[in-house]
Amino acid sequence: MIGVISDIHSNIHALEAVLDKLKEVDQVICLGDLVGYGAHPNECVERVRGMKIPCVLGNHDAACIGLLSLGWFNPHAANAVRWTMEEELTTDSLRYLRSLPTTRRIEPFYLVHGSPREPTTEYLTDGSQARASFDICKEQVVFVGHTHVPLVFTELGATEGIAPSEGNRVSYEEARLIYNPGAVGQPRDGDPRAAYSIVDTSSSSILQYRVEYDVQGARVDIIEAGLPRILGDRLTLGC
Ligand code: ZN
Repeated sequence: MIGVISDIHSNIHALEAVLDKLKEVDQVICLGDLVGYGAHPNECVERVRGMKIPCVLGNHDAACIGLLSLGWFNPHAANAVRWTMEEELTTDSLRYLRSLPTTRRIEPFYLVHGSPREPTTEYLTDGSQARASFDICKEQVVFVGHTHVPLVFTELGATEGIAPSEGNRVSYEEARLIYNPGAVGQPRDGDPRAAYSIVDTSSSSILQYRVEYDVQGARVDIIEAGLPRILGDRLTLGC
């Protein structure tokens, strides 16, 4: 069993709730954006690093180490990136983020934050993007994050994605998949619960999960840190 997490976004409340559910898995993998938006960037980096979770670089992570311009982000996101990198991240956290690759291969899986053709920045949402991505890599499952919305494409007729609901199981035995597990720390599909997936390697399938966490705790910490209030409020709506 392999836990798949993405887009933690400095939300330690959500990350701890998800990791508690993943205690029994053999390994956890992460699709990037450890930081940005939330109030606890160092805690999230420490947790992922401490567990030796293989991770790739997200766009917010990239911005915090100077690899992506702040002009790329909306004003609230840019504000949080600036706060994270200028006031919060320790030398150790920055060193860890600098060590992250943009893609990883863990057979039979390919890990990327955005998409295979633009690893850090492309939002993979439609069938033409999915087809281009299937053509670029050979792995049976391409895991992507970045959109904060759970979504799966199959290579057979990958014309549009299907949103896997809680409890859904998708097989990758017969057909290759592109799979987005949704966001741990800032879901945007209208469900404020933290999203994650578990790969059942024995049956070559992926299961989708949600878990409640202390949303108000995360919200209050964002507001008390002086970050834009909307970044806290949106957590309660899952948008
Ligand atoms: Zn993100």
